[in-house]
Amino acid sequence: MSVGQSAHSAMGTPDDPSASFVESGPPRLPLDVDGTGASDARVAPAQTLGARPRQLPIAPRAEPSRRHLPLAEATRPVDLRWQPIYAVWETTLRCDLACRHCGSRAGRSRPDELTTAEALDLVAQMADLGVREVTVIGGEAYLREDWTEIIRAIRARGMTCTMTTGGRGLDEARVAAAKEAGLQSVSVSVDGLEATHDMLRGVSGSYRSAMDAIANLRAARIPVACNTQIGRQSLHEIEALFDRLVAAGIHSWQIQLTVAMGRAADEPALLLEPWQVLEVMPMVARCHEKAQAAKVRIWPGNNIGYFGPYESLLRGGLPRGHMASCGAGRSTLGIEANGDLKGCPSLPTADYVAGNIRDASLRDIWERGAAMRFTRDRTVEDLWGYCRDCYYADTCRAGCSWTSHVLFGRPGNNPFCHHRALELLREGKRERLVKVAPASGAPFDHGLFEIVVEGWPADEMARAQAVAESGQGFITSPDHPPPLGPGQGTQMGA
Ligand code: SF4
Ligand code: SF4
Repeated sequence: MSVGQSAHSAMGTPDDPSASFVESGPPRLPLDVDGTGASDARVAPAQTLGARPRQLPIAPRAEPSRRHLPLAEATRPVDLRWQPIYAVWETTLRCDLACRHCGSRAGRSRPDELTTAEALDLVAQMADLGVREVTVIGGEAYLREDWTEIIRAIRARGMTCTMTTGGRGLDEARVAAAKEAGLQSVSVSVDGLEATHDMLRGVSGSYRSAMDAIANLRAARIPVACNTQIGRQSLHEIEALFDRLVAAGIHSWQIQLTVAMGRAADEPALLLEPWQVLEVMPMVARCHEKAQAAKVRIWPGNNIGYFGPYESLLRGGLPRGHMASCGAGRSTLGIEANGDLKGCPSLPTADYVAGNIRDASLRDIWERGAAMRFTRDRTVEDLWGYCRDCYYADTCRAGCSWTSHVLFGRPGNNPFCHHRALELLREGKRERLVKVAPASGAPFDHGLFEIVVEGWPADEMARAQAVAESGQGFITSPDHPPPLGPGQGTQMGA
């Protein structure tokens, strides 16, 4: 399962209400969003993206949670069949990075984040409900003063505790504190080689600090994984990046596609086109071969797939040997820092918050919250578009609900699918996305896109067929990324 596109941070980020974008001039990033006074450390965006949107709300003030959402009167047998095994917990929205693709638009704390007492009570409720592993994220989890207290409580209740981080402030002292508290594994986000990573993360030096964090964790003997998003700017350097991560000593690598949520929805130039899964999947398979030799485990995120020729290579070790349908609200729980509960941490807040822990128990919200139930009740009849008539529809149920919903405002049709792209290639067609409505600017928001089905240009189709047959190379080149459709360049924030 993926942990969404939350930014991760460190170094102390005050809730600086003055953080804002300059209105004109050369590309510059938010003023002193981390409170270090280091506004000159920000990096210029890559040429392919152009200037960052002037009014992009890098750290908007999150709205307070919606309270007292209704719960169903009764628990049904199907609700008892599922139990949250894995919880991903945004313990704070506070962050010291400024990631252009951050799904939660992290930066400032939410106005109503859980107190320590409330957080510790939630830990107990998770343990009682059967959660086995909790991953703390942010923002940046270690920017909460009580972060080690939370880790210690999770461990004391017998649950595995892991963390996902951008690593900017994961210095020796913080690592030592995490080790002492019992943190068992840390996944550091690294999204490309140095220049690309720094551009995407919005802070010069963030690649170096991420690699330093990996070294600090290894020195403290905390197992280290990495997670990487694959987007338009990073696609061609992912294999070289993987080599560096292997050399740095990671035990696992989770990859996912950059998804059109939050700030990424403001800049579609960050996103791959759906047909580019034809070059992503063979590239992932090539990395898999290297990973086996290096004894590094690859975890393809739930938006990497599905059911193409590499499915058993990448997911053969799963119980069914292939992708199953979305686990939101069945095996997975997502928690926002204010106690809002969702079936998956990546899902949009507006449509998927099932209740708030201040209003009802975790068990009640898990069993009776309407938005927690959608995958328990989903059938093929809920799918639409290409997915509705797909051979794999009943097993796959359109793959990742998050990826589909943030594109179209509802789940059930996922164009980022290898099987689908291959079938379309056989017909000489491909799909691309056109943005038709902006995101609102709130954490975990999304815009709206439409699918355009088009014929392949002859030269690109020949390359696509060659990549599909050989598993080698790319269709695009780093110097010639796919052109953006009308309105698809850098977008102004809402
Ligand atoms: S087309 Fe849709 S239902 Fe079929 S495999 Fe792809 S994502 Fe799953
Ligand atoms: S929406 Fe479903 S498939 Fe997608 S990341 Fe969340 S749990 Fe996984």
